[in-house]
Amino acid sequence: MRMIMKSKERTKKVMPFPEGSCPSCGTLMRLAKGILKFPVNGEDLSVADSSHLKCPKCKEVVLRLDEARKLRERANDAYRKKYGLLSSNEIRSLRERIGLTQAELAQLLGLGQNTLSRWEAGRNVQSVAMDYLLRLVRDLPGTLDYLRKLAA
Ligand SMILES: [Zn+2]
Repeated sequence: MRMIMKSKERTKKVMPFPEGSCPSCGTLMRLAKGILKFPVNGEDLSVADSSHLKCPKCKEVVLRLDEARKLRERANDAYRKKYGLLSSNEIRSLRERIGLTQAELAQLLGLGQNTLSRWEAGRNVQSVAMDYLLRLVRDLPGTLDYLRKLAA
């Protein structure tokens, strides 16, 4: 499966043939819909009814930008549902309730700077372990103070 990325460098590498042609063999690709897999936190999630282009000759699958975005969103949703994780809105509201910025909470949880904003935007999904940690922050008084001491 290939994705057409934004960056010119990647596009050049991925699409040596004209648009609509298979990047592997050059055959004209066809619109298709079916189950595609997408990795979320290292686990492949199956997403039904995923629109994509498919090569009738060599079976290569290519996703256009909007299709890739939709596939990732739906895989994220499936992962969240499978493990009963907090939604992006729930993460945002627990952070706002404790009065911290994304950067402040990310630092206390030992996360990369953009990780929390990606979770709140729904672009990425927290792991099960991080979901537990977020719940502790939300539900267990004293957790925030404890994390502050660890970080100090
Ligand atoms: Zn092909």
